[in-house]
Amino acid sequence: MLRLPPFRYLAPRTLDEAAHMLAQEGKDAMLVAGGTDLYPNMKRRQFTPPVLIGLRNLPELKFIAGTPESGLRLGSGVTLTTLAEHPLVREYYPALAAAAGLVSTPQLRNAGTIGGNLLLDTRCNYYNQSEFWRNSIGYCMKRDGDTCLVAPGSPRCWAISSADTAPVLVSLDASVRLVSQRGERVLPVRELFNDDGIQPYRRAADEILSEIILPPALNWRSVYLKLRRRGSFDFPMLGVAVAMRQQADGVVEEARITLGAVSSHPIEARAAAARLLGQPLNAALLAEVATLAAKPARPLDNADLTMNYRKQVTTTYVRRALEQFLPDDTKKSVH
Ligand SMILES: Cc1cc2nc3c(=O)[nH]c(=O)nc-3n(C[C@H](O)[C@H](O)[C@H](O)COP(=O)(O)OP(=O)(O)OC[C@H]3O[C@@H](n4cnc5c(N)ncnc54)[C@H](O)[C@@H]3O)c2cc1C
Ligand code: SF4
Repeated sequence: MLRLPPFRYLAPRTLDEAAHMLAQEGKDAMLVAGGTDLYPNMKRRQFTPPVLIGLRNLPELKFIAGTPESGLRLGSGVTLTTLAEHPLVREYYPALAAAAGLVSTPQLRNAGTIGGNLLLDTRCNYYNQSEFWRNSIGYCMKRDGDTCLVAPGSPRCWAISSADTAPVLVSLDASVRLVSQRGERVLPVRELFNDDGIQPYRRAADEILSEIILPPALNWRSVYLKLRRRGSFDFPMLGVAVAMRQQADGVVEEARITLGAVSSHPIEARAAAARLLGQPLNAALLAEVATLAAKPARPLDNADLTMNYRKQVTTTYVRRALEQFLPDDTKKSVH
């Protein structure tokens, strides 16, 4: 059995108190929300923080407010189950409800939060292993070693951004509010990411993600498709998030296509999305756009399924996601 390393647990009652504690404890401290990512990582000694600051008692992080006309605000402590079942999220931001509802298992969705999902640690076959296993292969650059075992000549880590909600929030053009004792700032979700498997986020060590801000939803539709081996359990091997605004006649006014789990950060397929603008959707255009969208995907041999398959199937998944925006009489079924 893998056991947690020893740590001191602090239980603030307000967001202010949590920000104060984080500033006081310095870089040694980590935040924990549902703990469904952090505790397994601590058991594998990927993180060994001497201090944990628990966010579970902060009512300020557990709210869903706003309207589809003005946009919704989601407290970072909202659980994935709550998000997946919320009527406004299901109706107006269906890709987000779908992504939250596809994370791991019901038990983990009951504990796991949207904030913790967005700030999930990046993943790799050579890293998400026990300390004993990693020791036996001499560790790797992400923790305790100095070489990348996937790309030994590479100066960087290519661990994968595996959060289901991340590509969706990028496609929805969402923002995050980051709060610290120094003040607060609002950042577009797409700017939250570094293209780096070791330091995947631009969140400062003393910042708490307090809320996610969704823009107005009227006239937007969205879709999320996920590829994984076991449909009831696994992390994504590919996530495709599409958000689109169309005129009444079907002509595309705005579109965003974002790929998850093919790099260290969600990748926006901007050239592909731009090709849709001003066009009515048809099968030939979708096939062309799907091929374009798969180009920036850079899967490596550090996750389940082969990298060639994950690259090839990206085209298929993008096309299937786009087909959801066809008029009902021409829509194909999604498998
Ligand atoms: C078996 C298994 C399967 C899983 N499958 C999936 C899957 O399919 N898809 C998927 O996306 N995830 C999956 N997960 C990962 C995890 O369950 C979810 O991502 C969950 O949403 C994480 O949320 P949490 O609240 O538990 O995060 P935590 O574990 O509490 O935190 C995760 C990280 O975020 C930081 N953090 C949390 N909240 C804040 C905040 N408010 N401000 C700043 N930093 C914060 C923590 O310090 C930590 O670094 C799986 C996990 C397991 C164990
Ligand atoms: S991509 Fe390379 S450095 Fe990063 S976790 Fe995997 S093996 Fe380690």
